[in-house]
Amino acid sequence: MSASTTCTICQSELQGDYCSSCGQRYLGRRVNTWDVIGGWLSGLLAPERSLPGTLRQLLANPRYIVENYWSGFRGYYLSPSQLVVYMLFVFGLHLALVNQKILGITVSVSGVSDSLKTFFSPQLFLFLLMIPMLALCTAAVYYRQKHSFPEHFTAAIYLFAFWATLFTLLHDMLYLFSGMELGSLPLWFFGTVFLWSARVFSPDGAAWYRVLLNAVLSILVLALLFAILFGIGYLLNPEGVIKQE
Ligand SMILES: [Zn+2]
Repeated sequence: MSASTTCTICQSELQGDYCSSCGQRYLGRRVNTWDVIGGWLSGLLAPERSLPGTLRQLLANPRYIVENYWSGFRGYYLSPSQLVVYMLFVFGLHLALVNQKILGITVSVSGVSDSLKTFFSPQLFLFLLMIPMLALCTAAVYYRQKHSFPEHFTAAIYLFAFWATLFTLLHDMLYLFSGMELGSLPLWFFGTVFLWSARVFSPDGAAWYRVLLNAVLSILVLALLFAILFGIGYLLNPEGVIKQE
């Protein structure tokens, strides 16, 4: 069968590897065995070039990649939800091979049976709850930047998923190769996430100490939010539902 000259989605004339009107990629040939093997490997390890590119940008230039997503550009860098899929994949490996803590945090929940705990990980729940909490913090600290809540929320997902994946991998490699456990992992993780959120939200050209101050301020707001939340929890059930260790 001869090569196509028109896009199968929008019927536009094909020029180059990508359709200029809908963005569908065309390889210029029919499927072969390597596509089957490579598709699985690349889907898991290196999806096109977007995974390494996204990670590098989030490390070096978090504001650029978050802005890019806010402004509506899609498909080149990973979206926040795609990054969450990677995070859950790394968490799954970690829970199966290393230990039951997520980023060094153990939460014991009373009244949940062991069989249920296999499916419902309390630390994962607490961890995922932290994402809207971070979004509330940045919305409060950077309210003058007039970002919408979806903007705060997507930035929070990006930064959480990125650093959770990186710190879990770092911790597990250290643990598997040297048997050393990073006890201060939660501190490093939350400190870095808040510092990076300050890098995203601080105004253009802000001095480094302003960025640092903003990070500290949002950590204080988080502490306040948690105090309120635990206060309400205590009033509702003084026996205490969640114990944090
Ligand atoms: Zn097309």
